[in-house]
Amino acid sequence: MISKKLQEAINEQIKNEFHSAYLYLAMAAHCEAENLAGFGKWLKVQAEEEMGHGMKFYEFLIDRGARVTLQAIPQPPASFKSMVSIFEYVLEHEQKVTGLINRLYEIALQEKDFAAQVLLHWFINEQVEEEKNATQILEQLKMIPEKGGALLFLDRHVGKREAEKE
Ligand code: MG
Repeated sequence: MISKKLQEAINEQIKNEFHSAYLYLAMAAHCEAENLAGFGKWLKVQAEEEMGHGMKFYEFLIDRGARVTLQAIPQPPASFKSMVSIFEYVLEHEQKVTGLINRLYEIALQEKDFAAQVLLHWFINEQVEEEKNATQILEQLKMIPEKGGALLFLDRHVGKREAEKE
């Protein structure tokens, strides 16, 4: 049986993952309004992945006979200053999520919940990937003067992102 403390923490993380999805979808909508469909696509795929993360935690609680309690998702911003500021936000957000996943892992260790630890190993690896991807795009964006022609090249490149298969 899963402990009450871990169950509550995972319910909180379900909300955090859907919050990430909502934030990235807001960023996607902004990019699409700015005619940067490639970045819009990348961020939509990212948003879908976050919903998938939320569902992984959801299924885990169900499989363990625990109760899923959905919480309110904060409203994301409606517009953003620049592409650099969007990806600074993505990186900062992912760094925060890494901290949340690490905290969950600490709880799973304290509670001696081995199944939760195995699930969280996947998320710990995933966060390495998330921070790497966000950093790479951010650093490339910084090489481009605001609205420089190379932005269109990068837009096409990131727009090739496919939804992840597992
Ligand atoms: Mg996530």
